[in-house]
Amino acid sequence: MSVVKGWCPGAHRPMLSGDGLVVRVRPFRGELDRAQMLGLCDLAERFGNGLIELTSRANLQLRGIAQEDHVALLAALEGLGLLDLDPSLEARRNMLVAPDRSAGDLTDHLCARLLEALPRLPELPEKMGYVIDTGARAWLGEAIGDFRLELAGDGTLLLRADGVALGRPVTEAEVVPAIIELADWFVGTGGRDSGRMARHVAKAELPEMWQRAAPRAQGWPEPGIDPELGAVLGVPFGALEPEALRGLFAQCGATALRPLPGRMLRILCPQPEAALHPGFVGAPGAPEMRASACPGAPFCPAASVETRSLARTLARRTGAAGDANSNTGGSLHVSGCAKGCAHPRRADLTLVGRDGRFDLVRGGAPWDPPSLTGLDPSQIPDAIRSA
Ligand code: SF4
Repeated sequence: MSVVKGWCPGAHRPMLSGDGLVVRVRPFRGELDRAQMLGLCDLAERFGNGLIELTSRANLQLRGIAQEDHVALLAALEGLGLLDLDPSLEARRNMLVAPDRSAGDLTDHLCARLLEALPRLPELPEKMGYVIDTGARAWLGEAIGDFRLELAGDGTLLLRADGVALGRPVTEAEVVPAIIELADWFVGTGGRDSGRMARHVAKAELPEMWQRAAPRAQGWPEPGIDPELGAVLGVPFGALEPEALRGLFAQCGATALRPLPGRMLRILCPQPEAALHPGFVGAPGAPEMRASACPGAPFCPAASVETRSLARTLARRTGAAGDANSNTGGSLHVSGCAKGCAHPRRADLTLVGRDGRFDLVRGGAPWDPPSLTGLDPSQIPDAIRSA
């Protein structure tokens, strides 16, 4: 087994964190069926810290895995059909799929083509990935993805490089060769140094042939009952509790779920209204959906503070008026330690646990110098107002 430090853990190559290994599961075609999801609940309790984490990029991960349990966990994931047998393909299978994909539609065809072509695609920086947003609406406008398959307003299929406004019209048959061509341009013009497409196109001039047509207006799902998606549930802090999931599945007779970016789930079930479960957010605008917090104490041994109830209280009090996954206004992050696993970047307000108290960082990352130190949780609301 190899253990990789960084921010893209997989199942084969887990990341070592303060609480053990983080093992990420990338759902095939963006979906887990009922047996896979219930199986993952059991594995979280058997091998992990008892929670399943839903990441902001629609992956699932188990935390707190002991190194000696990794091989047994891989075998169990393989038994559930949740493991790429080839570790190099797992690393490349970084795909976000429109949440309304259905068997035989365009999204499904493109997904199949891309999966089949993955071994032939050029080797790219590990975090680079694909977005297939070709469903009834443009759902994934805010999701980061370097190679974007989208539709123009007239239904023309486009391949768009992330970071530019326009894309290149392609036919279904041209998609894979066009991705290879764009990837070759990226590599050939020094893109590896930038690491991501959007950063690279800001420096290198993308040829005009790749910038011919605009995609449809971009959209984003919200928690609630959607006319096309049915039940969409928010998961505060991405913390999925196995008991709540089992209860949800029993309550609504769910056959599958689809993780969505932004820590949401689409539940596939006969009666969407039956999926509105108290353990999840079922309406837009919940402040805790806009805050980030890692598991904290007692789940992670690196934490000396409890994180999520404080984040929930502060989010409700302040309205957490912003998106914790963006770098724009009002984002809130409560981190158990300076590592910042839940949101390893800047937030407007970051509270970092240290020796049972909190340091407050304004407009920085958890490892940046704090403006106030040693705060008791009861002092934090006043400190936020006066800082
Ligand atoms: S940020 Fe949180 S989850 Fe990550 S090591 Fe620190 S306490 Fe643990």
